[in-house]
Amino acid sequence: MLRGKTAVVTGATRGIGLGIAEALAGRGANIVLNGLGDEHETRALVERLRSTHGVDVVHSAADMSRPDEIERMVTDASERFGTLDILVNNAGIQHVSPVESFPVDKWNQIVAINLTAAFHTTRLCLPGMRARQWGRIVNIASAHGLVASPYKSAYVAAKHGLIGLTKTVALETARDGVTCNAVCPGYVLTELVERQIDDQAVSHGIAREEVIERVILERQPSKRFVKVSEVAEFCAYLCGNDASSITGAQLSIDGGWVAQ
Ligand code: NAD
Repeated sequence: MLRGKTAVVTGATRGIGLGIAEALAGRGANIVLNGLGDEHETRALVERLRSTHGVDVVHSAADMSRPDEIERMVTDASERFGTLDILVNNAGIQHVSPVESFPVDKWNQIVAINLTAAFHTTRLCLPGMRARQWGRIVNIASAHGLVASPYKSAYVAAKHGLIGLTKTVALETARDGVTCNAVCPGYVLTELVERQIDDQAVSHGIAREEVIERVILERQPSKRFVKVSEVAEFCAYLCGNDASSITGAQLSIDGGWVAQ
């Protein structure tokens, strides 16, 4: 279904991004797998995706907080693949702290990786998509792109901003065969959330299971984590031709969180 197309997925060395890369590779897309991590593990991951799905996969260690590295990633990938048809802006980090004591460097880093990186990848990939009159941009926002929680000022601000960017890009590309959508997951059990569970267990002085039930899943009516595969399959659908009329949307996969 996506054979011959190339997808750039940022933050794809683990978690949701890796799930999305696998779902797109499973549909035949070549993958530019961006993300940080151990070199040997990443090489093994690239090999596994190549051999399992029979697609071309390259790794890019570009730091999404660095515009120069983002630019190099897009230039190198364009030289290798010729076309970059699908862009999934997934790289993201979290930091939890009251706003008045929120570390300034953490604020800047979260805004750079969770929001500004998507501006850079989008502006660099769009000309090629427009020229071919086909493109898919999927921005991984969050339920926190639609509603807030205390102590997550930078993350909530960046994710709300990412949804604003999504809508603007969708309007600017609506007649060019390009779609741009934001996907808003609720809690998915990845390293990003594991770290919050550990921190909350320490700060509340309660067991891990209790943190999951009473703190983390408190806002998620389904009372279960969203699965990586559920987010990944939905993103792959958005990248197909059947989704060509879905653009500028904020699409929740959150077990009912923002319905409240
Ligand atoms: P994760 O921590 O498991 O993975 C994050 C990925 O981003 C990793 O591959 C990491 O290497 C990469 N990354 C981090 N900093 C980077 C940088 N500076 N440059 C390049 N890559 C970098 O996180 P996850 O839970 O899979 O989150 C993925 C996305 O989904 C994030 O944008 C996150 O905000 C969003 N999200 C997650 C949840 C959740 O509950 N896990 C919910 C809603 C939205």
